[in-house]
Amino acid sequence: MTDEMTSSIGALDRAASVYIAGHRGLVGSALYRKLQSEGFTNLLVRQHNELDLTDRAATFDFMLEAKPRVVIDAAARVGGIMANNTYPADFLSENLQIQVNLLDAAVAARVPRLLFLGSSCIYPKLARQPIEEAALLTGPLEPTNDAYAIAKIAGILQIQAVRRQYGLSWISAMPTNLYGPEDNFSNTSSHLLPALIRRYEEAKAGGAPTVTNWGTGTPRRELLHVDDLASACLHLLEHYDRAGHVNVGTGVDHTISEIADMVATAVGYTGETRWDSTKPDGTPRKVLDVSLMLQAGWHAQVPLREGIEETVAWYRANFDAVRR
Ligand code: NDP
Repeated sequence: MTDEMTSSIGALDRAASVYIAGHRGLVGSALYRKLQSEGFTNLLVRQHNELDLTDRAATFDFMLEAKPRVVIDAAARVGGIMANNTYPADFLSENLQIQVNLLDAAVAARVPRLLFLGSSCIYPKLARQPIEEAALLTGPLEPTNDAYAIAKIAGILQIQAVRRQYGLSWISAMPTNLYGPEDNFSNTSSHLLPALIRRYEEAKAGGAPTVTNWGTGTPRRELLHVDDLASACLHLLEHYDRAGHVNVGTGVDHTISEIADMVATAVGYTGETRWDSTKPDGTPRKVLDVSLMLQAGWHAQVPLREGIEETVAWYRANFDAVRR
């Protein structure tokens, strides 16, 4: 690890106040579990209905009153391809409002350490694989989620601008596709893995002889367990202090067909999987270059097969409360 990466930071005080924005979501809840298990005793949280981060005045009131030492921004309007493609104006506007309000309020409160979470969709549609951090702003975005991506890119730039103008040690991380407990299993707004889990669970429960998935099954995707992301976030807060954003992933990809097979096995579905090649495949490969994260001393640990089995078990155990 270079000196530049580690300068001015180190282990966080376990008694420091840490505000996790979006603590009930997939990422925020994993962060909450992780920080609790690491002995943090002063975690600040507000549910969406208690503090709407699109409400600028309320966000400032909260931040200036709480004055957290650390802020992690895991609040966002998030969705899969269908939701992004159907509501681009809402995705752009809400995400810009949430992050601008949160970051401006954190500047006003002079929060010393802040982690902004973006997403791998910030990269150009045709970025060279594995995608390096330097690919940002080198080409056109994937049109189905460009509005969301632009909001996230603005967040990265705001973090850099705050570092320059105010000298605060704020950082940003770009996670790959995530999965795990507390995911969103909605038919209209879920991501790849929760969508597959729900589809195979329902096929098994209904005794369906076949499951038909979109596309050919050949595109390759990277998946990171959200507990790994939470551990990466803590690692970055304690060990990384650069203006440039950092990719967080496994660096390993699988075909969608392999991922679907793992889900079918975890679910115990014994029927046949078919592929509807008249439906779009999306980009052929999407995997992050995680060299910088490795250099910073962190790597993913949850094996995909185990992570899927655990997520299926969570889905069943929490069936009535699952977001769907
Ligand atoms: P979730 O939808 O699971 O959680 C988002 C959280 O933000 C929810 O608790 C939601 O509350 C809250 N929220 C949304 N709008 C507001 C608002 N206006 N005010 C206050 N709270 C709000 O999303 P994820 O956990 O999946 O995503 C978190 C971050 O991680 C995002 O920045 C996303 O880009 C990033 N990420 C996620 C990936 C994934 O695969 N899921 C991949 C890469 C990055 P409520 O539900 O009540 O609206």
